[in-house]
Amino acid sequence: MSEGPGFVLLYVLIVLVLLGAIAGSVVVSRRRSGRGGVEAPERPPEGAQIGEAASPVVDAPPAPAVEAPPVAAPPEAPAPEPEDLAPPRPLRERLGRARSSFGQALVRVFKRETLNDADWEEVEALLLQADVGVAATARIVDDLRARSRDVAPEQLLGVLRQELLQIIGDTDRSLRTADGVTIWLVTGVNGTGKTTTIGKLALRERLKGSRVILAAADTFRAAADTQLERWAERAGAEVIKQVPGADPAAVAFDGVKAAKARGADLLIIDTAGRLHTKRNLMEELSKIRRVIEREAGPPTEVLLVLDATTGQNGIAQARAFAEAAEVTGIVLTKLDGTAKGGIVIAVQQELGIPVKLVGVGEGPEDLEPFDPAAFVDALVG
Ligand code: GDP
Repeated sequence: MSEGPGFVLLYVLIVLVLLGAIAGSVVVSRRRSGRGGVEAPERPPEGAQIGEAASPVVDAPPAPAVEAPPVAAPPEAPAPEPEDLAPPRPLRERLGRARSSFGQALVRVFKRETLNDADWEEVEALLLQADVGVAATARIVDDLRARSRDVAPEQLLGVLRQELLQIIGDTDRSLRTADGVTIWLVTGVNGTGKTTTIGKLALRERLKGSRVILAAADTFRAAADTQLERWAERAGAEVIKQVPGADPAAVAFDGVKAAKARGADLLIIDTAGRLHTKRNLMEELSKIRRVIEREAGPPTEVLLVLDATTGQNGIAQARAFAEAAEVTGIVLTKLDGTAKGGIVIAVQQELGIPVKLVGVGEGPEDLEPFDPAAFVDALVG
């Protein structure tokens, strides 16, 4: 028949065109629904949470948000169980080498019947080695020498205790809270234990039933936000963060907005510390402060985290930060390690800013309110 091969070819062509049209419409509909197509919107990393607001900080460059559209406040994270914290151990047991290198050596000197110039030099050297600092050491040795005319050497340890307590001072060391959102701004050189301290604080406050948000404004150190997120997960706190390198003031701004929108009780802001560029540090911290003040009034606390093992260098750090950020309290970390403890005395003598908390380990329970009497007992024995 004349319709043979030509007709079959035409027929095959029509079938192929029809099949092509059907396949094309399936691909388009899959892309529209966002399933499986390469153009599907990218999901944020697991656990990432963003402020409800973008960052219209007047003096901060617009910061790129990780997740674009404003979303309804997420539900509060589940609270941790009290068992998550091990029972506290006495400070004396946790002060690491502080006690053995300082208190016991002093006891040996004060056991002597009379004390001559060489003995007093020994006392002075012991105090300096224990990081008590030049000014406080001079004050303590002068006072002890004067009192030694009236009291027996074995009583000098008691006199020293009183002297240390006097230098540390009697002041309110509780962390302040606000009527609305309490804001604690945490500063310090990197590596001093800021993030760890924030994690410990978050857990402690969550156990009291507070809704806690952590703002990852240390956008400088790689992985700082991941570390903060790990602590947040443990504590049942929420995290506000942006991309690495983002403007820290913008993250603080997002944090304040989110804390207000979600009705949080406490916002803790982590910051980066770059002492080697003191001007930048000052500018960055002042800018963060300004942003917080504009949105919510001054931060309720500005905590400076100092690593007790850095000794007298910590005092220089503290001065720079106090200048930049109007520090209201000091957290002295790593007192469990090789720190000699006397740094507490130096900090109080030289700066007059109250030590409010001490870090005595890496675990969540290893943060304690600073108790001067317990500390002096642990130090002197
Ligand atoms: P940041 O850079 O200031 O945020 O410091 P991190 O929080 O990352 O802490 C630096 C290191 O110090 C980490 O290995 C912490 O586990 C450790 N660390 C923090 N606080 C303490 C403490 O009180 N005692 C001891 N032994 N280690 C601590």
